[in-house]
Amino acid sequence: MTDIGVGRAGTRGAAGTRAAQDSASAAITFDRVGVRYGRGKKATDALVDFNLRVAAGETVALLGPSGSGKSTALNALAGFVRPTSGTVRLGGRDVTDLPPARRGIGVVLQSYALFPHMRVADNVAFGLKSQRVPRAEVAGRVAEALEMVGMSDYGRRLPRELSGGQQQRVAIARALAIRPGVLLLDEPLAALDAQLRQSMLAELQRLKEALPDTAMLYVTHDQAEALALADRIVVMNDARLMDVDTAENLWRRPPTSFTAAFLGGANLIPCTVGRVIGTSALVTFAHKTVNTEAPQPTVGRTDWAPGSRALLCVRPHALRILSLGDRDALRANVNAVVWRGASTRLVLSVGAMPDQLLDVDVPGNAHYEIGSEVGVRFPEPAGVLVAAAS
Ligand code: ADP
Ligand code: MG
Repeated sequence: MTDIGVGRAGTRGAAGTRAAQDSASAAITFDRVGVRYGRGKKATDALVDFNLRVAAGETVALLGPSGSGKSTALNALAGFVRPTSGTVRLGGRDVTDLPPARRGIGVVLQSYALFPHMRVADNVAFGLKSQRVPRAEVAGRVAEALEMVGMSDYGRRLPRELSGGQQQRVAIARALAIRPGVLLLDEPLAALDAQLRQSMLAELQRLKEALPDTAMLYVTHDQAEALALADRIVVMNDARLMDVDTAENLWRRPPTSFTAAFLGGANLIPCTVGRVIGTSALVTFAHKTVNTEAPQPTVGRTDWAPGSRALLCVRPHALRILSLGDRDALRANVNAVVWRGASTRLVLSVGAMPDQLLDVDVPGNAHYEIGSEVGVRFPEPAGVLVAAAS
């Protein structure tokens, strides 16, 4: 299981975040980058006004659903796609017009893209030759890169003689051989089966520790990968950057309802804000008034005004099922029961909230009859306020 609190908002991430404020010192800078495919009525905006800085040593995940513009952002930085507007910079230097091979970036794609007729060692050496690394040095650099991914014994094999996981390691070694200051990975684990994905994820964590000065941009649609690897997460939706922060901040105080739902899953219950005291508020929904967290709004966002509408974000595992007799219980009916191994997901309808289903996760394999009535209890505080989508 992925445990949210651990190890991510580490010192390097925090320092990286500060350093990345300064464009000249940032390893990666996207400055108002836009990418539009096609023209006229058929034009698609694949990336709109995208701004991001990544510091040396920092790992940033681009997380979002399919088609949200993640690969487009990565490709604009790698040089595979020409931005329609804006600039990309590496270490402060504008590289928007530089060909990919001259950017000195390591790139790993989902499809491995190894040369099938070349042995592993020659695949890994490929970038070095085009960078004109002296021949005497190439063998050592190849050995070093293969060693980093645990593939030292496979240099003479052809790609087809390797498993999918091994091929992806070779692709990573090839990217690392040029000792890039910036490493881009686009869904590198997506083609692997679940178990292999877990072990490769652990290897990528080790690799990240072994490359303390390398800036990494990691594209994924899988929140578990983003949580495991990233110092900061950029949440993408519909060609736009929705939110960017440490995983922990995005999880605990989601700035938008999209991020609340996409990162971890959430019940988003429409409510009316009552009294606000500091970072707490009383909110009302379904004739019930509860205490919630009310994070200080970030610059440019509206405050929690008494009487205004907002969303109460409650994680499914934070709700409790109890007997109907309990005076704290909100009465609900069981609509669906889905066993997920370590927990069971109940989908409940609540009479007092006709348009709102509640997801509740209970431990283990819990048995409830469809249609039966149960009580639901909210935690204290009940959740965290999220701005209603405008
Ligand atoms: P993601 O990586 O988040 O799944 P992409 O960056 O690949 O998303 O795509 C973003 C949007 O741009 C999608 O709507 C996609 O269909 C469109 N798109 C991507 N590449 C091209 C292309 N070469 N030509 C036209 N549209 C494209
Ligand atoms: Mg993609």
